[in-house]
Amino acid sequence: MRKRKVIKKYFILALIGLCCLFFGLIISAFYNGQEQSEYQAIPKIAIGEQAVKHFSEALQLKTISYMDYQIDSSQYVAFNNWLERTYPLINQQLEHTIISDFSHIYHWKGQNSSEQPIMLYAHLDVVQVIDNEREAWRYDPWSGKMATDTIWGRGALDDKVAVLGILEAVEHCLVNGIRPDRDIYLCIGHDEEVGGKLGAQKMAEYFKSNDIQFAYALDEGLTITKDLIPNIDKQVSLIGIAQKGYCSVELSTKMDGGHSSMPSPETSIDVISKALTKLNHQGLSSRLTLPVKQMLSCIAPEMPFFQRIILSNQWLFAPLIKRSYEGSNVGNASIRTTTAATIFSSGKQENIIPEQATACLNFRLLQGDTEETVLDHIKKVIGDDRINITVIGETTPASNIANTNSVFYERVEQSILEVFPETIVSPGLVMAGTDAKHFSEVCDETLYFRPMIMHPKNLHTIHGINERIAIKEYEDFIRFYIRLVELN
Ligand SMILES: [Zn+2]
Repeated sequence: MRKRKVIKKYFILALIGLCCLFFGLIISAFYNGQEQSEYQAIPKIAIGEQAVKHFSEALQLKTISYMDYQIDSSQYVAFNNWLERTYPLINQQLEHTIISDFSHIYHWKGQNSSEQPIMLYAHLDVVQVIDNEREAWRYDPWSGKMATDTIWGRGALDDKVAVLGILEAVEHCLVNGIRPDRDIYLCIGHDEEVGGKLGAQKMAEYFKSNDIQFAYALDEGLTITKDLIPNIDKQVSLIGIAQKGYCSVELSTKMDGGHSSMPSPETSIDVISKALTKLNHQGLSSRLTLPVKQMLSCIAPEMPFFQRIILSNQWLFAPLIKRSYEGSNVGNASIRTTTAATIFSSGKQENIIPEQATACLNFRLLQGDTEETVLDHIKKVIGDDRINITVIGETTPASNIANTNSVFYERVEQSILEVFPETIVSPGLVMAGTDAKHFSEVCDETLYFRPMIMHPKNLHTIHGINERIAIKEYEDFIRFYIRLVELN
């Protein structure tokens, strides 16, 4: 009898505990969610037709980067000349330095040059249009075609839109006597699509040798998203506060080859294939890093009831969140260092067993993981001494994480909300590498954001077919940079 009473007592206590936990979760979901800053929409500044005409002209110049650096330099020279005649005030009033012939630095002196400068970065080069895809474009990708409300061409989103958007904004400010408080450097790279070694990397060396240290930089990386984050109807402006790193590793083995009529039980191809399969099945460990945690807190209030509770209580639901994120490629890439087999080479003739097999794996490093983490992981998972593991090329470490309480973050946020009042703003993580990686030594904090709206219909046009932007969106793009300059 007494035992039953005790059990009942514990049962009631457990029930009370569960109720408290449940109400605690709800309270935290509704009171601890990241509040959106409140800014009023500002009147839309008139953007002249000239701006669209300039954009069209720039899209017609084939400033294409190729992996072997065999560029058509006449197109880049034409771009230089075009820059000079298109923005008279920028060329008169800003100090212009050309790096590696085709990259540009414009130094705009602020009213208070004692403050550390900021950098607005963009790249003028684009990827090529693959021959067999050309037919699929509605308009010639090099025509800069303006069709009713849209402008078409390679670079309309990545990244000539930013080169032009920034230049138009600054020219507008100069015309109207607007001058920033601190110095601003407009930096335009010309080889981002192939790694930025001649552009951004040389610019960074130039800044270093001239003792120029930036407080903040704004580069490409994330955008305004529409219908890309599940369960959110609103547009979400994602400001990247960190980018992942980059590391490539080669696995190779050499074994007896010979005639394919009498194969041994295991060949070099088998050994490397087994290693790849193991690495594919067992990825590096997952975790929620600060940019992702902050993003979840920001979007939680916009989510349906149960998701809101889960995202607002990450201390309890992190395993659940991670499991759900693992279900999609983008989600998975945001919670772990990813492993991708990209090259496999072995064998030359169908009846010869090759001695050697090699494979290349590309890893995108999450904050906290390094080259050593990756090498240890590979060794542990494959557990095969016959395989040589070598890092190839240059490893780029994962970037540091920018502070979302900084004045610059606030100003980027304010510029977004005043020009795009229908969006909510959230920090985010950039999966791909941008030119900003070269500036880690001369810039303390980098944010990654372009004020353009990406949605399922235009996402694949970047580096793909029918790249384009609505003229109205391009005008807002310029307005964002004008506002950002005014605030700085
Ligand atoms: Zn780009």
